[in-house]
Parts: sequence; structure tokens; C-alpha cells
Amino acid sequence: MTIIEKTAVEQRQALLSKEIKAVELLDLTYEQIEKRDEEIGAYNSLTKEYAYETAKKVDEKIEKGEELPLMAGIPLALKDNMNMIGSYTTASSKILENYVSPYDATVVVKLKENLVPIVGKTNLDEFAMGSSNENSAFKIVRNPINTKKVPGGSSGGSAASVAAFEATVSLGSDTGGSIRLPASFCGLTGFKPTYGRVSRYGLIAFASSLDQIGPFGRCVEDAAALYQVIAGHDMHDSTSLDMPAGDILSSLKQDIKGLKVGVITDLMQEGVEEDVKKNVLNSIEVLKKAGATVKEVKMPTLKYAIGIYYVLATAEASSNLARFDGVRYGHRTKGAENLLEMYTKTRAEGFGDEVKRRIMLGTYALSSGYYDAYYKKAQQMRRLVKNEFDRVFKEVDVLVSPTCPTTAFDLGSRNDDPLAMYLTDIGTICANLAGIPALSTPVGFDREGMPVGLQIMTDVLKEDVLLRTAYNVELGLK
Ligand code: GLN
Repeated sequence: MTIIEKTAVEQRQALLSKEIKAVELLDLTYEQIEKRDEEIGAYNSLTKEYAYETAKKVDEKIEKGEELPLMAGIPLALKDNMNMIGSYTTASSKILENYVSPYDATVVVKLKENLVPIVGKTNLDEFAMGSSNENSAFKIVRNPINTKKVPGGSSGGSAASVAAFEATVSLGSDTGGSIRLPASFCGLTGFKPTYGRVSRYGLIAFASSLDQIGPFGRCVEDAAALYQVIAGHDMHDSTSLDMPAGDILSSLKQDIKGLKVGVITDLMQEGVEEDVKKNVLNSIEVLKKAGATVKEVKMPTLKYAIGIYYVLATAEASSNLARFDGVRYGHRTKGAENLLEMYTKTRAEGFGDEVKRRIMLGTYALSSGYYDAYYKKAQQMRRLVKNEFDRVFKEVDVLVSPTCPTTAFDLGSRNDDPLAMYLTDIGTICANLAGIPALSTPVGFDREGMPVGLQIMTDVLKEDVLLRTAYNVELGLK
């Protein structure tokens, strides 16, 4: 195994023991990008200058024997919907193709403070709308494990970059599953924290009441460490929780004796592939062996999650995306005769089909006469979903289910059927509706060699329990 294939924990060890310099680790990472990314399509742009500047600082620190911040020197890929000064931040949309960030997102500020070299900006479904990364306006992303398959979306580039060893860790955003789904399809650990744990300042908004930034890693500990770097209160984001993020790493490796695990039977039935089920059931046995008690739980309101999401997320998106009008930033049409024409032509040229579909759906749901029937009803239903989670978390500590009913599907196979594509997120969306933390961690492979992900969810603010559970699953499967 070469150094770029190792985990962040192992790479840090190698840096500290001077087996390798941070600059050399970066060289190898860029060589790999050179070799593989033309096929994979994980990156929209590279940020070499900043990455090398940072790696040099890390090497100087190590040389001087100074303490090394968490994740320092570990090559990281950033989803291209997060602002970083001087970098293109496109959200994989034509409307922002030439947009250069004038400021840093709070997560980027934190990465910079910790001397994490940001390698580049990763491809995504346009404005994070999609489940396969085939909605990027620039190019598709391929799954590095089998390039005929999708990597999952919308953070497909962030997942693929780590799976293809073109970065060691990455950041994605998750509105309805966009971290967990690609983590599941690419064989990584991907983690959506509690809503408000990580600042969204500088993240291009999709659906603000659901959006959350989170990490991808090759193992649970990598994801936990990266979370530790980015979590915490931020006065620039009014939804950011004003409380310390807690120390996740110190309790990560504790045992889970007596942990109460609920298996969501509603997500284990129809449409779940046999190989997915087999591997998920096997990981539940692992939990039992580690001392957890397991029982089945029913959550009947979850069947409404997709319907609720596609009213609320599109409503919020239609409002958030109103700012892209050709006036302040991004693309502006040429030769419009008047202001209204400028707006409409700019947006018609700049947005892709899926984004337009969402804006139309959301505008419809918010329009007078339909507002009560759709938006208000969906808000009420969202509360019922949250109530159901509150009820089950009185009985169990964590919930498990397949992250997705299937493994990664073939490129192009769901493009003509938006509904089939939307159903990919049947297991993940509920966590965003309830604001609870959730992760996906690999638990095996299907008969074609594609990874299977186990989703674990827990109650708000219990990231430590979530990650410890995942750590024990990973350990038990080794
Ligand atoms: N696939 C879902 C959607 O298209 C979720 C996307 C996300 O989490 N950003 O809306």
C-alpha cells in the first residue's frame, strides 16, 4: 500500500516520524490526480498554490519540533459549493462558472487554522441537487471502484477523490443524503452532523433548513478527526449552535456494551437488494457481539419523508436561488433588451434542467392558493417525522438501516426517471428532516464488488455515540 492510500491517522504518523514530508505527500497526491482524474472527473479545479504554501508550513513546524494541529498536512478535497478566497466556486453550475470567491467559508477558515492543505474543489450535482453526480454542468463523476457506475451524489467528487486516492479526506454537504449516499457507493465513511454543529457560512445554500457540512474519510477515525476540526459555534451563521463541539476523539474507541440499537424495519423491506440486506444484517451481528442489544423498530411516518422533502427542499431552493439573476455575480446574458429579459435569459441559460425543475416545483408549492396545501402541510408532516424520532430515541440509542436500498447503479440508468432517482434517498432524507446526526460506513460488498453502506443515526448532539458505534462496527468487521 502506498502512502496516499493510507488513512489520515497513518499519514499523520508518517509525517511526525519524518518518513515523508507534507510537500512530498502533496506531490504524490497531485501525481495521482494527474494519472486518474481525467477519467474520474472528481475535481472542477485545483488550488495548488495554497496547498503547497500550507504543506511547507507543516514541514517547517515538524522540523522545529512544534506541536502539529489535528489533520495538519493531510491532503483534503473541498466540495465546489464552499467558498475559499481566490478559488473558483461554481457549484458545478454554468451560472457560477467564472465566479471567484472573495471570502472564506468558516469551515475553510478552520481548515486553514489547522494547516490542512486544500488540494482542489470537487465536482458535484449542480447546486447539490442530485444523487448520482450526473447533474454537473461540466462533467460527470465516475465511481473509482467501477468506472461504469455512479459515485452517488451530490458530493460525488468529494467521495470519488478520496476513493481514487486523489485526496485523503474531503468535505461534502448533505441536504438529503449527499454525503452518506456517495460514501456508501464509494466505500467510505461519510458523516452528517447534527443541524447547526458545523457552520454553513460560505456554503452555497440549497435548502437552508436541511443543509449541513460534513466529512468523508477512509475510516471512522479520519471522519471523526475532520469533524473535530470543522465543528463549533460561528456567529456568522445564525443557525449555528452556541455550544462546544465536544471531544469526539477521546471516547471514540470505547466499547459499546449495553448500547441499545434499533433496526428500522420499514427501511429493510421492499426494494432492498439482497446483498445489501445480507451485509447490513451481518453488521448487526457485529454490533451484538460487541455487546449491544438489538431490537426492531417501526417508523411508519418515514414513508412520507421523500414527499415532504421534495416540497420543502424545492421551496427553499426556489427562494435561495433567486439571487442568481445576472446582477451581482455569475453569468449575465448578452444582448437583453430590458431588465426582465436580462433576468429570464440569464437564468434560462445559466441553470441546468434539474435545477429548473426544482425551482418550478418550489415556486409552485409556495404560490398563493397552494401554500397551505403543500408547504404548510409538509412542514406539519416534518414535525411528525421529528416526533417519531423523539419517540424511538426514548427506547433506543441508535438506529441502523441500509444507507441506500441498492449499491452504486450504472451511469445513465436513472437519468430519464427523476422519481427513481429521488427514491435513492429513501433512507437518508429523514435525518435531515429531523436535524439529527447520521453517517454511512462501509460494511461489505455486493456480488459485483461494489461497497455496501450501513447508515447509523442517533439523537441530536450525540455525535460521540454515533461515531463510537461506527468505530465498533468497523473494528468488528476487520
Ligand atoms: N439527492 C437529494 C436531492 O437531490 C439530496 C441532495 C443533497 O443532499 N444535497 O435533493
